[in-house]
Amino acid sequence: MTHDYPPQSPYAVGLAGRCPRCGEGSLFSGFLTVRPSCAQCGLDLAFADSGDGPAVFVTLLAGFVVMGLGLWTMLKFEPPFWLFLIIFVPLTLIVCLGMLRPLKGLLVALQYSNKAEQGQLEDK
Ligand SMILES: [Zn+2]
Repeated sequence: MTHDYPPQSPYAVGLAGRCPRCGEGSLFSGFLTVRPSCAQCGLDLAFADSGDGPAVFVTLLAGFVVMGLGLWTMLKFEPPFWLFLIIFVPLTLIVCLGMLRPLKGLLVALQYSNKAEQGQLEDK
């Protein structure tokens, strides 16, 4: 028996780390480990392969934000280097690790909603 699931916004369910089909079950079993299947609707999540995508977006976004903030702080306040390190090393870790999981969820949800998969040669 198949259920009809209302279409989910890949942005809402992806950023929340929810199943891209039902929007209820959790997508992750660990910090970044995708479950084999959804516990709510049973969607096989083996298709989920975001590859290096989340890391690329985290690098670009966090690099832009943290580097911009670091440059501004250095130019505006000229803090001693040890204080700069105490503030910006944890800030970098928090921003990067905080963005990884939502971005991975978003890419998996976009992969599901756009039916993206490996290219294959048609065999006849
Ligand atoms: Zn589900």
